[in-house]
Amino acid sequence: MPEGDTVLRVAAGLRPHLVGLPVLRARAAGGARVERLVGATIEAIETQGKNLLIHVSNGLSVRTHLRMTGTWHRYRPGERWLRPASRAALVLEVEGSVVVCFDAPIVELFDTRSRALHPILSRLGPDLLAEDFDPAAAVARLRESSAITATIGEALLDQRVLAGVGNVYRSEILFIERVDPLAIASALDDATLGRIVGTARRLLLLNASRRGARATTDGAREGGTGRLWVYGRSGRPCRRCGTPIRSARLGGGIPRTVWWCPLCQASTANRIVSDATRPGPG
Ligand SMILES: [Zn+2]
Repeated sequence: MPEGDTVLRVAAGLRPHLVGLPVLRARAAGGARVERLVGATIEAIETQGKNLLIHVSNGLSVRTHLRMTGTWHRYRPGERWLRPASRAALVLEVEGSVVVCFDAPIVELFDTRSRALHPILSRLGPDLLAEDFDPAAAVARLRESSAITATIGEALLDQRVLAGVGNVYRSEILFIERVDPLAIASALDDATLGRIVGTARRLLLLNASRRGARATTDGAREGGTGRLWVYGRSGRPCRRCGTPIRSARLGGGIPRTVWWCPLCQASTANRIVSDATRPGPG
């Protein structure tokens, strides 16, 4: 399940093989006319939230978003692919490398100079992995977010509020900061919102810089014996207090499961739903 840290790692892995080289061949499964990239030189690869952007010398850029399913592979020319070609959403060939983006639901070509007007990119919240990330602006954005997404659990997943957090991290961040996912974002104080933002950035940066499975426990902390504190652990004992972990579907457009410990994360702020109307397990 790619989050901002995964996409940052993908970008770092692609750059040495693509940047500075002309595109020899390009094809996309969807409607994106990526053959327009052929002959142009790949100038930069960057990320914005969970979007990967490839900029080429003729003024065009490619945006890919992996959502739940996508993945990037790099092969040598002629090497056998590990997935069927029918699942290739984007293929770019340069000298020495064939890079394939499998199963990505979004592959899109756009004019680089119109990026500020891009309907998705221009509406993304502060990028948690950006070098010039501003924590105060992120806290303000979370506080304002209750107009769009009422609970902190929803706000963390909404890329218009903060860019980079996915479904694994939202549960883990809120557990680490002992915040009820159903608390109303605007009812949390600035110190709490600041800690949520700080932990989100710390976890994403930590996992962006290392290989292997995503982890949020460091093993040195109390109970930190597994990779994750609460994500995917419905009904199993909390690693801190032993209380069974709960889960519920939570989200605006596409509800996704959130996990939390009802004791460690007992609500101190208003909730959008009471216990009596809390969504069922999912
Ligand atoms: Zn607990």
